[in-house]
Amino acid sequence: MFKRFLFALIIFSMLFIIPTVALSFFEQKMGDPSEVSNTNSTELSSSLEEDIRILQSDVTEPEFIKVFNTDTNEVMKIDFEEYIKGVVSSEMPAEFNSEALKAQAVTARTYTLYRINKYADGHVDHPEAPICSEIHCQVWNSKENLIASHPEGWYEKYWGVINDAVNSTKGQVLTYEGKIIEPLFHSTSGGRTENSEDVFLTAVPYLRSVESPYEEESPKLRNSIKIPINDFIEKINSSYGNLNLTANNLKDKIKLGEVSEGGKIKTLIVDGEEITGREMRTLFGLSSANFNFIQSGDEIEIVTTGNGHGVGMSQYGANGMAKEGFNYKQILKHYYLGVEVVQMK
Ligand SMILES: [Zn+2]
Repeated sequence: MFKRFLFALIIFSMLFIIPTVALSFFEQKMGDPSEVSNTNSTELSSSLEEDIRILQSDVTEPEFIKVFNTDTNEVMKIDFEEYIKGVVSSEMPAEFNSEALKAQAVTARTYTLYRINKYADGHVDHPEAPICSEIHCQVWNSKENLIASHPEGWYEKYWGVINDAVNSTKGQVLTYEGKIIEPLFHSTSGGRTENSEDVFLTAVPYLRSVESPYEEESPKLRNSIKIPINDFIEKINSSYGNLNLTANNLKDKIKLGEVSEGGKIKTLIVDGEEITGREMRTLFGLSSANFNFIQSGDEIEIVTTGNGHGVGMSQYGANGMAKEGFNYKQILKHYYLGVEVVQMK
């Protein structure tokens, strides 16, 4: 009986108390990713039928690769395709759909070649190798590390799946106008990916904002943090000088500036000062630059949509597309505009 009363009380509170005190800051920009899927899913489903040919390339696949191992500070020489297996299993959960894992295998191989071409004489941070084993380049783990960092039975259950994803796409990479692309990717876009110049300043023709409608299963689609309002104001003041912010004027003093095509905040105007969404993301350690503030009592909640920079392939979006029946080539051509899947010699 008491439980029922408590439940009713909670529902009552949700209905009548919270909305009267919570101030949401940027209602006009808050897009719901599900709205995106409704308006654009026809565009995507028509490409389900599309048969994508793999073109022959005259690029020869390297047999080995030199990788700077940041754990041991040594340069390793690894079989190229074996290296790709260590990347795919580090960069994407092996539980993902096999077509998403294949898409990741092709991006890993493409990224590796891009780095080899760009840093043939070594990267300034690791001069003896064009690529390292960390997030600085792309994450690679040895089989031993992978087994140690996953629950028991992971290797037996998933190594075959990783092997299949890499072996079945062996030698395949992405090109744009004949050149190997830089296939950036991220966890979850929040409904739409970003134009490269909105995040990294340079406009890249194949890194355009596209819809990413199948991310509903991503545990990283939404996130939120709560902080006391005083701490929130102090943090902004410590970085941008003493702005005239108080608990009572935040809603008036913080205005939305520019929003990117992908829905991320490019700029905010805070008491007349322009602050970029990226700066806010760093300042408060946010999952993405697509955020909203909700003021409630003496706390402020920062709600984020999506996870990561939002440029290129969305990994959870790729997994969602794979579950909808799209194959890895369709997924790649969706997230990287105008690219070809080519087969190296
Ligand atoms: Zn590196």
